[in-house]
Amino acid sequence: MRILLVGAGLSGAVIGRTLAQAGHDCHVIDSRDHAGGNCHTERDAATGVMMHVYGPHIFHTDDAEVWDYVNRFADFLPFQNRVKTTSRGAVYSLPVNLLTINQFFRRTLRPDEARAFLECQADTSIADPQNFEEQALRFVGPDLYEAFFKGYTEKQWGCDPRNLPASILRRLPVRFNYDDNYFFHRFQGMPREGYTAMIRAILDHPGIATDLNTPYDPAMAGQYDHVFWSGPLDGFFGYRLGRLGYRTLDFERFDYDGDYQGCAVMNYGDREVPYTRITEHKHFSPWETHERSVCYREFSRAAGPDDIPYYPIRLVREKALLEDYVRLAQATPGVTFVGRLGTYRYLDMDVTIREALDTGRDFLARAAQGRSP
Ligand code: UDP
Repeated sequence: MRILLVGAGLSGAVIGRTLAQAGHDCHVIDSRDHAGGNCHTERDAATGVMMHVYGPHIFHTDDAEVWDYVNRFADFLPFQNRVKTTSRGAVYSLPVNLLTINQFFRRTLRPDEARAFLECQADTSIADPQNFEEQALRFVGPDLYEAFFKGYTEKQWGCDPRNLPASILRRLPVRFNYDDNYFFHRFQGMPREGYTAMIRAILDHPGIATDLNTPYDPAMAGQYDHVFWSGPLDGFFGYRLGRLGYRTLDFERFDYDGDYQGCAVMNYGDREVPYTRITEHKHFSPWETHERSVCYREFSRAAGPDDIPYYPIRLVREKALLEDYVRLAQATPGVTFVGRLGTYRYLDMDVTIREALDTGRDFLARAAQGRSP
């Protein structure tokens, strides 16, 4: 079959590869001048530092098959994300762990004591947290919430944390030991030559033709047996029902001679600081030596029509609109909507790959049975 995959990010590449290996003729297009979607990495011409162009991406998963898969296409080196946060003139360790608790409250608590202490801080009357703020008050209490989460979240999402789902905070653990690894997954690492090289390697198959700088045109669809769409779901339909809300990011670059902050990611919890975090890219490749440094101050704001969409907002309005678009998508034969933008979800890279593998295999199984994919 002739397959068009719109978007040369993780979803398009992994599905394309799966289908190409089964003998299908795959054409991957992307409107940008690079593969990799928002995982795109490239070396900075001036300093040689590997840049996470659209913000930090750290690979972590519990999915052994996904881990094996990415290791087929890239040389992964050990990398653990150890995030720090600056709040009210002091630096603390994230995610909230025993060091954070002891430093913040100026205590010397042991694990059990810290657990009991935080339980006293927490609002235990909240049995079933209904939103981000309730989740925070229930699990870390008001002081840590105000210092680390409230201001950051207001900046990141541009709304009152009471209007955000509790699930956003559930991404972050609270630890009663000194483990400051941001993620708890078994497999964690960073591709030595970056994500774009990995995604190019996935696309490197005789059954895949990739065209960059090539926007989708609805007239193309007729030339293919099936389309996989990893662009914005509402964009496929020309935004005819309205626009799904996204947060976009602005990065303000600055260079520094030496080591600017001593870690890859420094969050800023104070509302008064306009950016959410500073990323110092060379720390994503600790095996490399660079004298000079490139940093990004990261600002979050509502995405306008011409901005790059990053985080799906998924509040009440978007949820209702999303349902309408999902109905439209289901009524569109010959097109499968995939990935973060195509399904309008906050997806980690490993989940995106897992879903892409499953989608590709499901397509092949249906095609083999002569069913419409
Ligand atoms: N968050 C926060 N303070 C921090 C880090 C995270 O309040 O210092 C909140 C914020 O609302 C964010 C959510 O926790 O959206 C999830 O954090 P994560 O680090 O997973 O966000 P990502 O790296 O995906 O932007």
